[in-house]
Amino acid sequence: MKKPTFRRAIQEFSSFLLFFLLVGFVVSCCMMLFLNVLSKEMGLTYTSDNIAEAAKITFLNVVIITVLFKTADFIRRRIMVDRPVKMITDAAEKIMNGDFSIRVKHMHGSGMDGFNQIGESINQMAEELSSVETLRTDFIANVSHEMKTPLAVMQNYGTLLQTPDLPEEKRIEYAKAITDASRRLADMMTNILKLNRLENQQIYPNLTTFDLGEQLCESLLQYESTWERKNIEIETEIADRVLVSADSELLSLVWNNLFSNAFKFTEDGGKVTLTLIADEKYATVKISDTGCGMSAEVGAHIFEKFYQGDTSRATQGNGLGLALVKRVVDIMQGEIGVESAVGVGTTFTVKIGRANDGPEEAR
Ligand code: ADP
Repeated sequence: MKKPTFRRAIQEFSSFLLFFLLVGFVVSCCMMLFLNVLSKEMGLTYTSDNIAEAAKITFLNVVIITVLFKTADFIRRRIMVDRPVKMITDAAEKIMNGDFSIRVKHMHGSGMDGFNQIGESINQMAEELSSVETLRTDFIANVSHEMKTPLAVMQNYGTLLQTPDLPEEKRIEYAKAITDASRRLADMMTNILKLNRLENQQIYPNLTTFDLGEQLCESLLQYESTWERKNIEIETEIADRVLVSADSELLSLVWNNLFSNAFKFTEDGGKVTLTLIADEKYATVKISDTGCGMSAEVGAHIFEKFYQGDTSRATQGNGLGLALVKRVVDIMQGEIGVESAVGVGTTFTVKIGRANDGPEEAR
């Protein structure tokens, strides 16, 4: 890297020097001719020695000025061009080698705007690459961590199943534990794939117009056995014929996840409320529970992949549900919000656009 720069500097310097020597030579010749003519025509007493002396001094002046100019220009280039270029190329090289923590410093002085702009772009690029890298490593760490537990369960119960003369009830219990763990693993893989497809936009919303109230009821009814088992009171307030134009399959994923959480985090004897209201443009769904609630700290992270605020219920999920919900709501260009208080309960509010060309009476 250093050799070509040095050679280039020598080359530049010699071409610059050659040019000024040429100019110096021409100027000196001109001066000799001028003084010669002047001495002859005007009768001035310039001897040829005087003229030769004057030419020498002129030539020397030109050479000194050349060297001074070139030295000044060399120093200017070093400070104003070579230094920032080196900083930028060094940063680019480090990024290329995987060091995304590098940042190009702001350079002061006039004429630095262009370099500062390049530096800014490089810094932005490094920041984005670094966050992508963090996401990637976090994701791998999370998936491996989440896979370890069910795999360990399957391994342990598999070993136990090999015990000779195992009583029938134990055999059923161990087999059930293996089935549950493998189901959990399969659910996680399905969610990861769904999320991946949603994030890479490989899923194009298939828009149909349907009654949102009906879809919400269908989704809620899937949890009938849970609310009966836990003796949870259900309250609904659903506006009539609220038509929406959306991807019904994706949207049902939202309701299933929100209901599943509401029932999971609500203690026996609690209450889950479903409300659907609509105006001309938007349909708003609220799913509330009187469960354990969550702190503001937990609430700030719930839409992140693999985040689980309540680890005591971690065996029943993998922290991907709300990440999926958020992605679907974003795709639908809707909004999702959460209000929660520890020990009081939680309300999720989802707001989505209505059908554009549905029948008038349906509004
Ligand atoms: P999972 O339910 O599998 O843990 P989610 O992405 O669905 O993952 O939820 C992330 C976290 O958000 C949960 O671990 C929990 O801490 C919090 N959470 C979600 N819904 C509720 C709720 N209704 N009540 C209390 N906490 C909730």
